Amino acid sequence: MSNPSILILPGDGIGPEVMDQVVRVIDWYGAKRDLAFEVSTDLVGGAAYDAHGVPLHDDTMAKAQEVDAVLLGAVGGPKYDDLDFSVKPERGLLRLRKEMDLYSNLRPAQCFDALADFSSLKKDVVAGLDIMIVRELTSGVYFGEPRGIIEEGNERVGINTQRYTESEIERAARSAFELAMRRNKKVCSMEKANVMESGILWREVVTKVGEDYPEVELSHMYADNGAMQLVRAPKQFDVIVTDNLFGDILSDCAAMLTGSLGMLPSASLGAPMANGRPKAMYEPVHGSAPDIAGQGKANPIACMLSFAMALRYSFDQGEEAARLEGAIEKVLADGARTGDLMGPEGGTPLSTAEMGDAILAALDASL
Ligand code: NAD
Repeated sequence: MSNPSILILPGDGIGPEVMDQVVRVIDWYGAKRDLAFEVSTDLVGGAAYDAHGVPLHDDTMAKAQEVDAVLLGAVGGPKYDDLDFSVKPERGLLRLRKEMDLYSNLRPAQCFDALADFSSLKKDVVAGLDIMIVRELTSGVYFGEPRGIIEEGNERVGINTQRYTESEIERAARSAFELAMRRNKKVCSMEKANVMESGILWREVVTKVGEDYPEVELSHMYADNGAMQLVRAPKQFDVIVTDNLFGDILSDCAAMLTGSLGMLPSASLGAPMANGRPKAMYEPVHGSAPDIAGQGKANPIACMLSFAMALRYSFDQGEEAARLEGAIEKVLADGARTGDLMGPEGGTPLSTAEMGDAILAALDASL
């Protein structure tokens, strides 16, 4: 059988810098764990625009549809700010998500003990936090029709429509329950069934899907209460499933519980392919960070944790994912810090490559 395939799209700004470190980790798995991948690399975002005049070439899109997983760095930068909307770097990212039909966005909020002081919340509220937000990504109010700004009488009216079909809710819910089965078997579904019909349907469909997962404890919460609970007692949750709009807000809120943007991974999953693996794209939450690009200052951990998610969710290598997460936890506990993780006590930050060195050494030590 051929090795599983990965398409790497480093993108712009710090994207290529952090991705270089992930490639070292991928190579380590091939050399030390007999876990080799077929890796190809291509352009996305501003880099693709510079080469081809579009933020994603059709050939790259076709490759993304064929591989087992796409790993993306980041796109964008001031150089591209004035481009026409249709060729802006972000359009490359949106095209990938849309054409791969990546409907389930996974955003873990995990607090490494060594970084618990970085949270804006009290240390004991966040230490050991490990929750997962599943956001429906391809429907809801960001896509629903009718939409627009219309004239009505002598004023304008802005319109957006929250619209969900049962099948759209069902597939998002199913991915949340599947995840919960691999975790602590708890799902909390968040909507506004008290004031929105789409919320009533959401609750009904999630409840129905839940019947297929009797081992999973399902609860429901209004999304506004969910936001409060996330900052009051986030550790009560395991998997949260919610729609596109609430998920956008709640996942950013949960992400900040853990401190730095340089630590946050994500996965976007779609329907299973012929080989049973889901269509999948993994990427750090952060952008291209033009303020530090090219200086070797970027934290590669968010991108590495995104690869750990790929190991777990695309390649069924949960133990190897835990090995990589463990190596990252170990170097942080030992005091390794890139600039974004420096506390008031100061010290000398590690460069991007030095953080990569430390994590590779911890991986070696894990054998
Ligand atoms: P950003 O995430 O790039 O940076 C925000 C701040 O966090 C900056 O100070 C940056 O230095 C810091 N930061 C981010 N990642 C870091 C890392 N790995 N290590 C250390 N520090 C890190 O957000 P922004 O400044 O709002 O956007 C910059 C560009 O990135 C824009 O063009 C924007 O459109 C784009 N963007 C892309 C994505 C994506 O590719 N998914 C996401 C967000 C923003």
